[in-house]
Amino acid sequence: MHDEKHAVVIAGGGPTGLMLAGELALARVDVAIVERRESQELAGSRAGGLHARTIEVLDQRGIADRFLSQGQRAQIGAFASVPLDISDFPTRHNYGLALWQNRIEHILADWVGELSVPIHRGPEVADFAQDDTGVDVELSDGRSLRASYLVGCDGGRSRIRKRAGIDFPGWDPSISYMIAEVEMTEEPAWGVRSDARGTYALGKLDDGKRVRVVLREEQVRQGDEPTLDELRAALIALYGTDFGLHSATWISRFTDMARQAATYRKGRVLLAGDAAHVHSPMGGQGLNTGVQDAVNLGWKLAQVVHGTSPESLLETYHAERHPIGARVLKTTMAQTALSRGDVRMDAVRETMSELMRMDEPRKRYAAMMSGLDIHYDLGAGHPLLGRRMPDLELLTERGPQRVFTLLHDARPLLIHLDEPALDIAPWADRVRRIDARYAGGWELPVLGAVSAPAAVLIRPDGHVAWVGDGTDQGLHDALTTWFGPARA
Ligand SMILES: Cc1cc2nc3c(=O)[nH]c(=O)nc-3n(C[C@H](O)[C@H](O)[C@H](O)COP(=O)(O)OP(=O)(O)OC[C@H]3O[C@@H](n4cnc5c(N)ncnc54)[C@H](O)[C@@H]3O)c2cc1C
Repeated sequence: MHDEKHAVVIAGGGPTGLMLAGELALARVDVAIVERRESQELAGSRAGGLHARTIEVLDQRGIADRFLSQGQRAQIGAFASVPLDISDFPTRHNYGLALWQNRIEHILADWVGELSVPIHRGPEVADFAQDDTGVDVELSDGRSLRASYLVGCDGGRSRIRKRAGIDFPGWDPSISYMIAEVEMTEEPAWGVRSDARGTYALGKLDDGKRVRVVLREEQVRQGDEPTLDELRAALIALYGTDFGLHSATWISRFTDMARQAATYRKGRVLLAGDAAHVHSPMGGQGLNTGVQDAVNLGWKLAQVVHGTSPESLLETYHAERHPIGARVLKTTMAQTALSRGDVRMDAVRETMSELMRMDEPRKRYAAMMSGLDIHYDLGAGHPLLGRRMPDLELLTERGPQRVFTLLHDARPLLIHLDEPALDIAPWADRVRRIDARYAGGWELPVLGAVSAPAAVLIRPDGHVAWVGDGTDQGLHDALTTWFGPARA
């Protein structure tokens, strides 16, 4: 006997699980989260911001302003310690947002609450067993749930991944850091320092009182949490003083371990976020990648749950997101290597800075770090195919409307800009058609100006699934591939 049944159960209500729950709820899927934390409070501040593409996907759901109003817009992108400015990029959000993970999670949790997603707080997902029709999910408080699909958004040490028997190949840590939030009686030496002992930093937290400490450890350590005495000793070794350290509210450790799930799906069990990929926090990619995993998976899973699309649609989740995760692992490994403080690495960094000051490399790396260059391989064709749809201001029969506004309800969209009339009647129950005019230019990050299409088919995640050249060639195939077979 099961205590509850849901179409989808999500293990873990961190940023990834919350975003996925929101996406599923918008698609009217019966979804529940199981989160072992009693409240959304986080012990430490963890992630410090959102990159441009994440802000865009939040804008596509009409919730970007909630984040923008609480954070600080800034040029946060960097590679090899070289700041990467994206203010000349063709996006409304040509910046990043400095905002602590704690706030990000609260805003997402409020949104998910408005969408009436139940969250079982307190118990863990203890175990599960999948069969041909669903998954039995056992909670640590003895309750049992039944779901058609279980998604592990349960972080880097994911129990779902381990119990599903999904390999997690990659690289052991080469470096470890202590991270802490403390008070100090003396004024500390603010800022980031790099020398032969590595990079270490002392930064002011929002309350203006507490200090965020990040210190490289002499020996690579993992697992156990560092103690206050270890933190004090490390501070004295690096700065010659502990600045009167006291009242630690959080002490933890992170490493540059880089691992990625061999598959993001095993039957009715899927992985997203840190459960699918872990790496160094350098470059601030983890939370952003997890939220974008969720936006890629949500609509696909919804269509499979509703029976609109065959289960094979879920294979495109791994096919599209695994390469993105692999690229993040590679760039964070490069960034870790570049952060080493010996003279030869200083020389490599200087060489890289020279490169990054040139326009073309700056644009490429900035687009990569901000997520604005993400391109799913949907075959050859117009440069828009597989890329993010720009947030153009269209002239529609209801007046001017932004593309992202039209995506708020997370439904597929056919924007029809020019002749001929396109018949999508057999998909009209799923795909919204907008007749619009747009007189401005079409410009993509890095690629620059591209030719104006006659029509574009946009997936709920904002990626372009088909580009019209003035005919309907390939349109019905694209509609079937992405949104299921035609209905009479
Ligand atoms: C110091 C530091 C700085 C960082 N800076 C950045 C940054 O600037 N930008 C960025 O993008 N990323 C950054 N990251 C990474 C970011 O914090 C993570 O990538 C992000 O939290 C991943 O989100 P998630 O939801 O996938 O996993 P998590 O945040 O780990 O959430 C998993 C959730 O699952 C719950 N859970 C676990 N097991 C179970 C279970 N069995 N049953 C029920 N619930 C369970 C946990 O309580 C947790 O709430 C940083 C990380 C660190 C450590």
